[in-house]
Amino acid sequence: MRPLFLIAAQFFLQIASISSALVLETMTIKHVLVPIVMEAEAGPFVEHLDLKPIDDFFPSHTPFLAFSGSLGDAKVTVITMGKDVVYETGVDNVGTVPASLATFLALEKMKGAGETPVDLVVNGGTCGGFARKGGAIGDVFLTTGVANHDRRIGIPGFDTYGIGSLSSEIDPSAMAEALGYKTGIVTTGNSLDKTDTDDEYMKDKNDASVKDMEAAAIAWVCKMNNLPYMGVKVITDIVDGNFPSHEEFMENLASAAQSLQSALPKVLNYVCENKELGGSEEL
Ligand code: SAH
Repeated sequence: MRPLFLIAAQFFLQIASISSALVLETMTIKHVLVPIVMEAEAGPFVEHLDLKPIDDFFPSHTPFLAFSGSLGDAKVTVITMGKDVVYETGVDNVGTVPASLATFLALEKMKGAGETPVDLVVNGGTCGGFARKGGAIGDVFLTTGVANHDRRIGIPGFDTYGIGSLSSEIDPSAMAEALGYKTGIVTTGNSLDKTDTDDEYMKDKNDASVKDMEAAAIAWVCKMNNLPYMGVKVITDIVDGNFPSHEEFMENLASAAQSLQSALPKVLNYVCENKELGGSEEL
């Protein structure tokens, strides 16, 4: 049994976080940062918007890449985490560490003189989905919050820190309805597969609809910068299904990247102009 005062404190915290939610439909967005981890995920979107590589955006000893352009009146900067040179594997730098570092460096860079500061971070990528939450391969999910499932620290206070649950500053439900997407919490861990304990955390503690390897890390950097985070995640594999994630992931990566390429401009159009898709008076 938890003491009554703890329950009351949690209740008031929840009310406070709901009342501080940003109303997307009334926001003016001038610059969106779009972190997309893998080159294969980002490629079709970068091409579609004809974004141009920016040389010297990141310090030269980091592997991260940046592309920039515009969509309507808004500036769009895509960053990818580049390829691994540290372990000399040459594969994409997936996982939380590169994602938080690249996002942090990008946001700092945009605070510089002559830069347009970022007002929204939209993290595009692939994810695992849960059939029990209505997820199917190819579905697009807009995130309502993030949490970690592999940071288990069984000491009071550290346990909550480890899970690192953050609810979205933006309620994406009107946008999801207008665009035909789903909404839910994304749970993050540094493994593509899962253990039974991960499973317990993903289901019971995090109430996750989708699973990835970066969202909670990027949202943490956003929170430090007082910026709203939103994830746009396309399902490549079913976590509670019958096939191993890595097989399904490889099979569906290319089609998921295509569907990300079509979903991201719709989301950004909605965010930046939001009149085109449904009209603000209806929302
Ligand atoms: N074998 C892949 C490895 C990619 S790791 C390769 O060839 O490069 C998986 C990437 O996709 C991560 O960036 C992660 O965010 C996302 N992802 C897709 N399905 C996932 C799942 N079931 N669990 C965790 N992350 C997943």
